[in-house]
Amino acid sequence: MTRREPRYDLVVVGGGIAGLFAALCAAGEGRVAVVSRGSPRATSSWHAQGGVAAAVGADDSPALHAEDTLRAGRGLSSPAATEVLTREAAARIVDLVDLGVEFDEGLGLEGGHSRRRIVHAGGGATGERIASVLAGRVLDHPGIDVLDRRVAGLWTESGRCVGVQTDSGTVAGRAVVLATGGMAALWERTTNPPGTVGEGVAMAYRAGAALADLEFVQFHPTVVAGNGLLLSEALRGEGALLLDGEGRRFTDELAPRDVVARAIDERGSVVLDLRPVDQSRFPALMEKLADAGFDPSAAPIPVTPAAHYTMGGIGTDLDGRTEVSGLYAAGECACTGLHGANRLASNSLLECLVFGRRAALAGLAEPGLPPRLAPAPEPVAPEPVTPALRRALWQDAGLVRDAAGLERLRSAPHLLARLVAESALVRAESRGSHFRVDHPAEDPALLVHVVHRVGREPVLERWP
Ligand SMILES: Cc1cc2nc3c(=O)[nH]c(=O)nc-3n(C[C@H](O)[C@H](O)[C@H](O)COP(=O)(O)OP(=O)(O)OC[C@H]3O[C@@H](n4cnc5c(N)ncnc54)[C@H](O)[C@@H]3O)c2cc1C
Repeated sequence: MTRREPRYDLVVVGGGIAGLFAALCAAGEGRVAVVSRGSPRATSSWHAQGGVAAAVGADDSPALHAEDTLRAGRGLSSPAATEVLTREAAARIVDLVDLGVEFDEGLGLEGGHSRRRIVHAGGGATGERIASVLAGRVLDHPGIDVLDRRVAGLWTESGRCVGVQTDSGTVAGRAVVLATGGMAALWERTTNPPGTVGEGVAMAYRAGAALADLEFVQFHPTVVAGNGLLLSEALRGEGALLLDGEGRRFTDELAPRDVVARAIDERGSVVLDLRPVDQSRFPALMEKLADAGFDPSAAPIPVTPAAHYTMGGIGTDLDGRTEVSGLYAAGECACTGLHGANRLASNSLLECLVFGRRAALAGLAEPGLPPRLAPAPEPVAPEPVTPALRRALWQDAGLVRDAAGLERLRSAPHLLARLVAESALVRAESRGSHFRVDHPAEDPALLVHVVHRVGREPVLERWP
């Protein structure tokens, strides 16, 4: 037996907002390890600008928030997950305030929301403000060990996940919560930090978990051309205008992201005019624009769409449970079915909080580990993410897809690229973020999730 490996009640993989919050929720009840590679600054969480959606305004309610979420998901959002998310939102905001996060005055408006309900901090630095407070709390907590390591594989014994294999040894736990983020950095143009390539998603699949909804990738419409800096939806909520080459408006700036992104893509080159916006409300963003050499008061900024958020991931129930005993997932790597075919803006940080907490609490209820564990298997080396692979995903599984491109991508030298291609081929329709030029309409027969399990053909499932 590998007697010397450390043993925890909960092993959380990932140091973004889902992982940090999950660890803090569990730490009062058990001993927790957060195993994460690199600095919190390198997470998507740190880069989130707009905020966290929560029905906390006087004119708002969880039911209205749920309606907007279901509308964005184009018939595929799980009503049960939506109900949990929107009902628990206000309590999770209170948790953050109790932990020391200072939110700005007032609520923001973003595309697809029928009410002002975006709670934000630092004038466009919401992710950084939340993640830095959570990281500080985690580091100070006597019940949490933080291990700066790359997780290379899951450690399973007799079908149960009993820990993780890292680049320097194993870490055992009664339960493992994967909070490893999404995979939008697999695409050539992306808003995500470079490491966001779905390693946790791939390792869960190899360990026997189901993956779902991989064809649904949200492309953010307004990213500074050639630079990757995201110009938050909140700017359009506050009056920023999209203009074509002739200086004319061509779309409703607050239409769903897929609609705005495709309208921009059709025109090739467009600009975002920030002059109607009170720029003093977005100090962090204005500073980043100035650093990149732009003066938004003088001239509009050239923008382009980029891969931003992956709706699909490791299939879980409402407590983060995967199909592998002892293995949980939360945050962007997970797929509760909440986002359906398109994520409503600012629902993802909320998802990290609501489902991160639920997964942590459920994981703590797992039984103790047997006294002896078989040695962990050899880890699988990470698959290379080359410029050619990223270009192929952009070209063949980008904003506009067809069967020929997706067939080509099926032979890509990367597991997740192949699974994305297979899912997108099965979904021979256009729905939400997934647009097939050869099947441009929604097909009511495809109100189902495309689910992959290792060694099997993809299946179509209806979820409650
Ligand atoms: C520019 C930008 C702006 C955004 N704005 C908003 C917004 O305003 N509102 C909103 O709701 N959402 C927003 N999003 C989306 C949101 O930020 C993410 O969905 C969310 O932060 C994901 O959090 P997470 O904890 O699941 O993963 P992440 O924050 O991506 O963290 C993943 C963690 O897992 C670790 N990890 C990954 N693989 C391994 C491995 N093999 N071994 C060890 N560690 C590993 C990483 O190092 C990292 O610590 C934005 C995203 C971006 C990129």
